[in-house]
Amino acid sequence: MSKGFKDLEKILEKTMALQTALALLEWDDETLAPEEAGPYTERVIGALSEEYYQIIAGEEMKNSIAACEDEKDLTEVEKAIVKEAKETRAQLVCIPVKEYRDNAQLVTEGIRVWTKSKAENDFGQFVPVLQRLVDYQKRFASYRAKNGEKLYDSMLDLYEKDFNMELLDAFFEELKEVIVPLIREIRDHGKPIEDGFLTGDYPEDRQREAAEYLANYVGFDFKKGVMGISAHPFTTNLHNHDVRITTHYSNRMDSSVFSVIHETGHAIYELGISDELTQTLVGQGASTGMHECQSRFFENIIGRSAAFWVPLYEKLQSIFPEQLKGVSREQFVEAINKAEPGLIRTEADELTYSLHVMIRYEIEKMMIEENLDLTKLPDIWADKYEEYLGIRPANAAEGVLQDIHWSEGCFGYFPSYALGSAFGAQLYYHMKKEMDINGLLENGEIGVIREYLREHIHRFGKRKTSRDILKDITGEDFNPRYYVRYLKEKYSQLYDL
Ligand code: ZN
Repeated sequence: MSKGFKDLEKILEKTMALQTALALLEWDDETLAPEEAGPYTERVIGALSEEYYQIIAGEEMKNSIAACEDEKDLTEVEKAIVKEAKETRAQLVCIPVKEYRDNAQLVTEGIRVWTKSKAENDFGQFVPVLQRLVDYQKRFASYRAKNGEKLYDSMLDLYEKDFNMELLDAFFEELKEVIVPLIREIRDHGKPIEDGFLTGDYPEDRQREAAEYLANYVGFDFKKGVMGISAHPFTTNLHNHDVRITTHYSNRMDSSVFSVIHETGHAIYELGISDELTQTLVGQGASTGMHECQSRFFENIIGRSAAFWVPLYEKLQSIFPEQLKGVSREQFVEAINKAEPGLIRTEADELTYSLHVMIRYEIEKMMIEENLDLTKLPDIWADKYEEYLGIRPANAAEGVLQDIHWSEGCFGYFPSYALGSAFGAQLYYHMKKEMDINGLLENGEIGVIREYLREHIHRFGKRKTSRDILKDITGEDFNPRYYVRYLKEKYSQLYDL
């Protein structure tokens, strides 16, 4: 190993340690931390974030990167790490340290105020902090933006490299044209689907048993991961030997079942990253969209397919013998795929889900590009739900206040959810040419599918962008048609249209 790279590695070792600490604090905050710890943890987060900033922005890091760029004999992995270090530094160094630290604290404050506003169903008290969050993110984007780049484009690029409003407008337009009429057709002409048995007295310990069984079956390795409980399920990735997922339990059994499969999809991605990338800058998933691609692929395309439940349904019935008594596997599979417009994104079915995302995308564009008066948000939100989904939230808690993202200063993140689904459909049609997906699932051989994804996606970590991954596997750039086709085929068949 070259001297230059050794120096850089030493510096990155420190930044990695700080990021690990920050990720663990976040995990703790969402799962176990006592309520009053909040403001005190904020101070710790602020101090650690500042330390991280100082190292990345420092001269030592700058010089090491420059030295590495002069090196001739770096390995491919080393080159990828140097490139990532350079980009990480460029994104950060353009932001003044005081603003960087203030923002880190603002985000924790944002989450606290949002939680309270949501509980009290009072959007008004969230507006001032939301305005500050928007202002900060706009300022940061203006520091980052390259020649004339629009602010929202710069935010989108941060989560999904090489995606901008032009591409996303076209993507959502295509979706809207097919899904909005399809939802109406299902409402007017679709056969009725009974799903009442999914809700009821589902004891938490049984749900936990089902969750652990399914996570293990799909490929979660409990020696390298743990499963906790939080209000909203999420995954914390420390590295490929420590991945943590959470779930939640309610009286809807499928809610936990599919959130566990979803988070397991995220976890499998991280666990599948090659060991030579562990605890390096490229030892994580390619992007938020590619991450959602993996989680949604397992949750929806695989997990809600009839074939997936062939080897599993009996086991599920044995865990819930009274609740699923007399419910056939076919009835169960229809029920878990029922499509019905609802108000809450995280509870949305596979068909309507992307419209929830589209609404947020359209509103974010207005917030960032058009200086929207934020007090109008609840009405704009409700109008859009009425237009696309035919339903209207009665209050802010089930409307504009439902998601945590804006309180964290995440603007430009939402589209990743819809993109992930679309990436997944594109992969699915390609994989079907290479393997008998249904046959494998029916035989309980999900490992073959997981291994394919590990070989073609997971092991590379962040060494490729999502668009490169799609091109390398399918021979084609991102193409939203597959997703539209997938939804149309699946739901026309399910509802006998
Ligand atoms: Zn996810």
